Amino acid sequence: MAGSDDTRPQYHIATELVHMDSDNVKDNYNAASVPIYQTATFKQTQADGTGGEYDYSRSGNPTRTAVEAHMAKIMRAERAFVVSTGMTALDVILRLVKSGQEIIAGDDLYGGTNRLLTYVSQYNGVKVHNVDTTQPEKVAERLDPVKTRLVLLESPTNPLIKIADIRTIASKVHEQCPAALVVVDNTMMSPLLQNTLELGADIEYHSGTKYLSGHHDLMAGVIGCKTAQVADQLYFVINSNGSGLGAFDSWLLLRGVKTLAIRMDKQQANAEQIAEFLEAQGLKVHYPGLKSHPQYELHRSLASGPGAVLSFETGDVGVSERIVESARLWGISVSFGCVNSLISMPCKMSHASIPAEIRKQRHLPEDLIRLCVGIEHVDDLVSDLANALRKAGITVKQ
Ligand SMILES: *Cc1c(COP(=O)(O)O)cnc(C)c1O
Repeated sequence: MAGSDDTRPQYHIATELVHMDSDNVKDNYNAASVPIYQTATFKQTQADGTGGEYDYSRSGNPTRTAVEAHMAKIMRAERAFVVSTGMTALDVILRLVKSGQEIIAGDDLYGGTNRLLTYVSQYNGVKVHNVDTTQPEKVAERLDPVKTRLVLLESPTNPLIKIADIRTIASKVHEQCPAALVVVDNTMMSPLLQNTLELGADIEYHSGTKYLSGHHDLMAGVIGCKTAQVADQLYFVINSNGSGLGAFDSWLLLRGVKTLAIRMDKQQANAEQIAEFLEAQGLKVHYPGLKSHPQYELHRSLASGPGAVLSFETGDVGVSERIVESARLWGISVSFGCVNSLISMPCKMSHASIPAEIRKQRHLPEDLIRLCVGIEHVDDLVSDLANALRKAGITVKQ
C-alpha cells in the first residue's frame, strides 16, 4: 500500500482522510500544510541532467505526489494518479484500448462518459456495447476473451440510481476474459462509502470535482489502480499527454478531501430524510437508502451507505420545471458533491448531450428531477422543497 508503512495500524477511513503519513511529504521546514510547488522545472546536480528526484512538472511534482499517495492510501490502491478532470481520468484509461478491441459499458452513464465513448467508437475503431449492468448476465453475454478490453461500470448510476453488482460482474469478467480490465467510476459513492478495488475492480476512478474536493472550486480526476503493471501503463500516458493535475489544484484537492467524511455523513443523513419526505408525497423516488429501491439489499452488500444523490419523477415535465424554478435554497446546477444543495433536470442539463431517442430507449424520464443534497439544515431544505412542490400545484402532506 502506497504512502504508509506496514507496521502502523490501519485506521478508519475518516481518520486516514485527515492523517497524512509524514513520509509522504518531504519538506525542509516541516510545513503543516503540504507546500505548493508552483514550478515547471527542477534543477539537477549532474551534467547529464540527473540527480534530482523531480525534473519537470509534467512528469512529476511534489505537491501532486503528496495528494496521489494520500489518495492511494484512501482508495487502498497500489498507486493513484490525479489528473485535470474526471473526464481526463477516463480519457487516460481509454488509451489502454486498441483499435479492434471492445468496451462493455452501462446504459445509464454520466453524459460526458457517453460522449467520450461515442468519440472512441467513431474515431478509434473501438466497439462499445451499452448494456443494462443491473443484470450481470447482460454483461456476460457480451464478453469476448479476445476482444473485450474494458468493462466500465457506474454504481449507483446517475441519474436513475441503478445498482450494478460489481462483485459478481468483476468475477465473471476475470474468469472469462483474463486480459480484460474492470473499471469503475466511483464518483457517486466516493471512497468513503464504497471501495471498488476490494469488490474486484482493476481500476477505480473519480471526478475529484465532486465529493473529494467538496466545494466546487476546482476540477480534478483521480485514478486508483490495483496493480503496478496497470499503474505503469497509465503513468506512461499521463507523462506523455501532460494530463497530470497542476500544483495548486493538487493542493486544493488535498485540502478538500480531508473533510470528506464529515461532509458526506451530513449530506447523506440529509438525503435520507429528504427521500422519505418525497416518498411520503406519493412521488416515485430513486434512492438506494429507501427500502422501496428494487436493489436496496444489493447496494447494502456493496457500499456502507446510500450517498447523497437522489432523483424523483413527478409525471409531468411542466410540473418538474416549475418545481426546479421555484426552489430557492436549491441551486439550479449540474454536478454534485458540493456543500450546497443542487437541483436539476438531467434530460435538459447534464444528460442533454445524449440524443432524445437514446434517452427514451434507456428509459430516462424527461420529467426526472435530480437532487444533490448539501450540508444545510435539513428542515430548511425540506420546507424549501415543500414550497416548490406547492407552487407547482402538488398538495403537500407534512
Ligand atoms: C462529473 C462526473 C464525471 C466527469 O468529471 P469532470 O470532473 O466533470 O470531468 C464523470 N463521472 C461522473 C459520475 C460524474 O459525476
